[in-house]
Amino acid sequence: MISAAFSPAAVTAAAKETAGPGVTFDQVSVAYRGAVVLKPLTMAVAGGEILAMIGPSGSGKTTALRAVAGFVRPASGRIFIGGTDATNLPPYERGLAMVVQNYALFPHMRVSENVAFGLKARGADRDLIARRIEESLRIVGMSQYSKRFPRELSGGQQQRVAIARALAVRPRVLLLDEPLSALDAQIRRSMVEEVARLHADLPDLTILYVTHDQSEALTLADRIAILKDGELSAIGRTGELYRRPPNRFAAEFLGRANLLPVVVSGEDHHPAGARRLLCVRPQNLTLTGDAERSNSLKAILREIHWQGELTHVVAAIGEQILRVVATRLPNPPQRGDRLSLFFAPADANLIVEDAGV
Ligand code: ADP
Repeated sequence: MISAAFSPAAVTAAAKETAGPGVTFDQVSVAYRGAVVLKPLTMAVAGGEILAMIGPSGSGKTTALRAVAGFVRPASGRIFIGGTDATNLPPYERGLAMVVQNYALFPHMRVSENVAFGLKARGADRDLIARRIEESLRIVGMSQYSKRFPRELSGGQQQRVAIARALAVRPRVLLLDEPLSALDAQIRRSMVEEVARLHADLPDLTILYVTHDQSEALTLADRIAILKDGELSAIGRTGELYRRPPNRFAAEFLGRANLLPVVVSGEDHHPAGARRLLCVRPQNLTLTGDAERSNSLKAILREIHWQGELTHVVAAIGEQILRVVATRLPNPPQRGDRLSLFFAPADANLIVEDAGV
């Protein structure tokens, strides 16, 4: 289910009346040979926003992106791009560009020719092409490589060129499908920062970013949509979704979470007697209480692992495992010790097992 601010009917109405500069999915479903892989999806991506679509492999992320690109035809629903109903437009009339995992640069063309390709195909004049090559390569920090061939570049550099090529046609919407997953971890981290910088340079560009890597999404996205089995499981502003995931799937997909089964005794948003999960992130459990962190749980220490900057503690209340990540532990406890684990009310929230609050 979906966070509180989300209302399919309101999004649909807004899309039809004012369809803004971004992208709107209005009840979009996709089927391959009769098998539904994207159930009716309604969500709006604001102009200039980075929305990350995350979810496990096979959850329908790429399919949703390909529907926006025009590479698959929805079985039902409508797609608005930049305020226009694009459902029946061919891909090249949608004002967007797409970058996929495997760069797909033309191997026999130099970097500058690769970047120029889309503009040449559209019959742009030489001055414009030269200007756009220069601008696009500058944005991705590849100006000095314009004469190289793709084989003379590293994977990360090739992917920068692929992004420059996408930007050269000045798309309104940039679709990124696992753009960094072919790169190794260290390069991936620096590329994430580059995509963030790129967006700072081009604040009007709407970006749909598909990834299975929640840390890329947390770093980059203004909002995150989580897909599960072809359905929207949760959507929300990045920090808010991380701090207040609406359900177990969202909580666990966005990072480590302690989820304690509880029964509501009386509260505003949940009925008394309801079974819920109390969600506290490992870094929000501490071994020392204070005025703010006054809620406490009694547990037994099972394991403790010191990892340089962080110490990981595994504790248990009966069969229930609790994880704590601490930055400073002046007097590390030992296996078998009784612990009090503290948390602040603001760092804990009640969530549902699965769909539907
Ligand atoms: P994700 O991007 O989240 O990994 P996809 O959108 O690629 O997921 O796939 C969603 C589901 O649709 C998967 O079960 C996949 O096998 C299926 N699928 C994707 N493309 C095709 C296709 N061209 N023909 C048939 N089934 C497909």
